[in-house]
Amino acid sequence: MQAPRTQAVALRASGRSEVEPRVEPMVVGDASAGFAGLGLTEWLQRAVAEAGYQTPTPIQGKAIPHVLTGQDLLGCAQTGTGKTAAFALPILQRLSLGPTRGRVRALVLAPTRELAAQIGASFERYAGSSNLRTLVVFGGVGKHDQVKALARGVEILVATPGRLLDLVQDGSADLAGVEAFVLDEADRMLDMGFIRDVKRIASFLPTRRQTLMFSATMPEPIEKLAGTILRSPARVAVDPISSTCEPISQSIFFVEKPEKTKLLVRLLRTDSMDRVLIFTRTKHGANRLVRELDAAGFGAAAIHGNKSQSARVRALDDFKTGRIRIVVATDIAARGIDIKDLSHVVNFELPNEPESYVHRIGRTGRAGRSGVAISFCAHEERPYAKAIERLTRRSFVEAAMPRHDSRAHDSRAHAPARARLSS
Ligand code: AMP
Repeated sequence: MQAPRTQAVALRASGRSEVEPRVEPMVVGDASAGFAGLGLTEWLQRAVAEAGYQTPTPIQGKAIPHVLTGQDLLGCAQTGTGKTAAFALPILQRLSLGPTRGRVRALVLAPTRELAAQIGASFERYAGSSNLRTLVVFGGVGKHDQVKALARGVEILVATPGRLLDLVQDGSADLAGVEAFVLDEADRMLDMGFIRDVKRIASFLPTRRQTLMFSATMPEPIEKLAGTILRSPARVAVDPISSTCEPISQSIFFVEKPEKTKLLVRLLRTDSMDRVLIFTRTKHGANRLVRELDAAGFGAAAIHGNKSQSARVRALDDFKTGRIRIVVATDIAARGIDIKDLSHVVNFELPNEPESYVHRIGRTGRAGRSGVAISFCAHEERPYAKAIERLTRRSFVEAAMPRHDSRAHDSRAHAPARARLSS
């Protein structure tokens, strides 16, 4: 079969510029009646039951009824809230009602390869018995297989912006049939410099379409972008970025830079730290820490932008299957990674943007489970800690240093005390 050739050159900009998002009256679904109460059809109810979901999460309860009506949506929610299913389920339902096969009917843009892969896996999992096909495309790997898969025909395309533009421009991807467009993690797209690409991609989409945009924060450029790509969107919000989740225990160690690795090693020797995601600010810092942990006898892997796609996938697989219990990541690489059952998130270095702290610790204590977030704060990082306290409106609880011998890892080792950042 011939590859569907794009009519990119013939397509015009969507002409949606400067449409102010207007807040529409709420469509009320009954989340207490489970997924059925939200209007999801039977085969999708079966799919969520098979995924083990019993009740909709708040973002699902709020978003699904809107998306099912075909309305545009601006969702303020971060990863870990169940937002993927909040858009994937109603989109699948709407697509299954239409007859067209073999062309891209839903397009999801995600900022990172990992997030794109996860979204693709979710669509595939929920699509189950339907004949809707999903393809994930991202950069850093060869284009050939992606071009071939596009030529075979897919209905759902999940992509990172750069590679998608490439595929559109060389005629391999045709977006003229897109009925539903999802822009996920819009604020991270902005941080990563993808907004121009996103706008360009939007210009290849039909004007008549449904657009859903999700972002954990709503900085001004994102509000503006919403104004240009959304039409009269419903707005739904869960977990505002300034409130960190309550089930997560958050503590801080005031520890100077040269002592951080030693402290980490001592903490890792405690039994309870069995699945740990550690954040560093830089890629070099992540590599160095992995080497130091290795030397101390802890198998760890780094995930960051300089790692090849196969190295990242291997690291994630090893972590998910329990072959390694420690992953060291930078903010951008970790963004959106869905790793279940994390026992601890460790901020080996505090982020200079307080919002990143909320994203980081959002990886533990997910879906109602409790988690532990530990932060290491050197003298020069104290302003970052203060900024985090201001944003989250919570004071850190200072943890007591574990003693050197293993017997010291009793309850007193983490005895809480109010951190005094102002002193
Ligand atoms: P997300 O925010 O989309 O990355 O989802 C976070 C995690 O929550 C994923 O592992 C989902 O499989 C899981 N999840 C999504 N919806 C539900 C639900 N209704 N009940 C339980 N877990 C869910």
